[in-house]
Amino acid sequence: MNAGRRIPVEQSHPEANGLYAKRQRIQIKDVKGHYQRLRDASVRVVVVLYLVLPWLTWNGRQAILFNLPDRRFNIFGITFWPQDFLFLAWALIISALALFFVTVFAGRVYCGYVCPQTAWTRWFMAIEQFFEGDRHQRIKLDKAPLRLGKVARRTGKHVSWLVLALATGLTFVGYFSPIRELVPDFFTGQVGGWGLFWIGFFTFATYGNAGFMREQVCLYMCPYARFQSVMFDRDTLIVSYDQARGEPRRRGARKHSEEPAGDCVDCALCVQVCPTGIDIRDGLQYECVTCAACVDACDQVMERIGRPKGLIRYTTENALDGRQTHLLRPRLLAYGAVILVLIGLFAGSLVTRVPLQVDVLRDRNQLYRVTGSGTIENSYRLEILNKDQSPHSYQLSLEAPAGLTLVNAPRRFTLSAGEHRSLPVTVSADPYAGAVESADIRFRVRAVQGADAEAPDMEMAHESRFIAPRS
Ligand code: SF4
Ligand code: SF4
Repeated sequence: MNAGRRIPVEQSHPEANGLYAKRQRIQIKDVKGHYQRLRDASVRVVVVLYLVLPWLTWNGRQAILFNLPDRRFNIFGITFWPQDFLFLAWALIISALALFFVTVFAGRVYCGYVCPQTAWTRWFMAIEQFFEGDRHQRIKLDKAPLRLGKVARRTGKHVSWLVLALATGLTFVGYFSPIRELVPDFFTGQVGGWGLFWIGFFTFATYGNAGFMREQVCLYMCPYARFQSVMFDRDTLIVSYDQARGEPRRRGARKHSEEPAGDCVDCALCVQVCPTGIDIRDGLQYECVTCAACVDACDQVMERIGRPKGLIRYTTENALDGRQTHLLRPRLLAYGAVILVLIGLFAGSLVTRVPLQVDVLRDRNQLYRVTGSGTIENSYRLEILNKDQSPHSYQLSLEAPAGLTLVNAPRRFTLSAGEHRSLPVTVSADPYAGAVESADIRFRVRAVQGADAEAPDMEMAHESRFIAPRS
């Protein structure tokens, strides 16, 4: 065995450092156009909504507040408790199905127009363009030596990025902690350690993701990019280059010769505007976030050279092959039907939801007890939670066979919004008044208004069992 000899290893890409190639920073050219106006409008709505929503009030309290310490989520007029976890599960299932539906229909339109990563990156890029100029100027600035002008521009950009990132981080924590107290507390140095940690975490996550990582989040971190292709079919809306019309490209000598040439003039504008740095002319790629920047860029070129727009366009694979596109197809209809049914059930459950929780716990230490006067008693603990955002008065009653009565229990009591009360109650039976047997009983708690008017939509009953001795 020749232990001293080694297999010679050559680096196939000498520019690469080991297994990793240095990332080439993508400097995107700004492009105007119909789809980019739409994108600008949608990302503005996403970011402004995110920043404004926690400042809204509803009935004098923060309209959207995920109050984790008190384990209650206020969403406008409704408070969700841990017992309402089913609603959260439903909401998540409906959202996931809606995303599938949109993906089957319109590809990754969510990524291009409303994804938070896209929205914040676009805002960060607008700030970058404001301080450092367009693509050409930014590339020049990157190569320029570090002089006062460059430092000033870079400082302005990073400070503005950090301000937006801080607003994002503060707002995020403001969804979980009352924002009208959080913001003044933050600027007066009164926020606790955990609060500061989360504000810092989300500030730097925003700064890093939207300022530096950008398309890398979509390419390497987002799971949706990986599995969305399995949802595509030949009728899904995609951004595509019309190869039949564009090829062969008019470049070099072909530009001026009489040789037949396609409409693509190989200006590479579609590549320069692409946020993920791909060339859509190479075909459909998983990196494409369907932002349509290349559509707008190419349309401008086509306009300039007097050719019809749409060399790159929203289309379907069937349309590109000259076949008919089927908008209504079984998979889409199935998703739509399931979403509609789930939304109907969700809305129905929400409307009929009773904001009152009643649980009954039997005394586990003693099945029954016989008092000095001979009566038989069972003890229970009623756990009552007012899940509403207003206080209510309640009436407690017992539904049980004749002879069983409620003793040592308040018949009327009031709970403030979100208050939980533990009520010890006793059910008693007098064996001298009649035979006493074990029986099913039911405790009913009913909201009452004024004197004795009942609010029937606010009542809950809970069953239990009364246990008596055998003889
Ligand atoms: S923008 Fe249009 S014309 Fe220019 S390279 Fe891209 S596809 Fe060709
Ligand atoms: S290929 Fe076109 S649509 Fe896809 S990400 Fe790039 S610019 Fe956007």
